[in-house]
Amino acid sequence: MIISMLGAPGCGKGTQAKKLSQRYNIPHISTGDIFRKAIKEGTPMGKVAQQYMSTLVPDEIVIELVKERLSQPDCANGVILDGFPRTVNQADVYLKSGKLDKVIYFNIDEQVVVDRILNRRTCANCGEIYSILTHNSDTCDKCGGELVVRAEDAKIQDRIDSYKKETYPLVEYFKQNGLLFELDINNVKATEPEDQINEIYDKITSELDKLI
Ligand SMILES: [Zn+2]
Repeated sequence: MIISMLGAPGCGKGTQAKKLSQRYNIPHISTGDIFRKAIKEGTPMGKVAQQYMSTLVPDEIVIELVKERLSQPDCANGVILDGFPRTVNQADVYLKSGKLDKVIYFNIDEQVVVDRILNRRTCANCGEIYSILTHNSDTCDKCGGELVVRAEDAKIQDRIDSYKKETYPLVEYFKQNGLLFELDINNVKATEPEDQINEIYDKITSELDKLI
């Protein structure tokens, strides 16, 4: 089964991808991983992609890279794609010759994500993550290191804005061609984080089990 995941940064799709990867015995691959691996191994598409390293890689080349990666033995049972397709054009061109069984869309209120990430502090020493809502100190409980705002967290509003611009048309596109499976993350019933993860996981697996 070839699955793609769509969702804002911080929506929890990484956690789900890890669990799904184990359940179905398929790798979880981001577009960045595909690029790095192809270039490192010097595959035919890797060599082409290398020429674009610091510029935007054209959609046709992204698609060929993904297809090349999907043809490798560890993807025999399928794959969970993260970050592909990124645009409607990529999806459209890819689907003319490539396969996609389901797109799982993590629909979450962006403001919730922005607030959560802006309240986040990371230990500069050991990487432990805290929320300023529950942690009343500038230092890490584990190692005493200084707690800082990570640069990419500080840019969350920009990341969310560009995500929305790219993703909303893609959600509509997949809705229309029947590939979208939408999860309403805002209305999860469970209250404990662990239970929330399991509730979402159960919803995804009951949908994906139908594909087997
Ligand atoms: Zn620490």
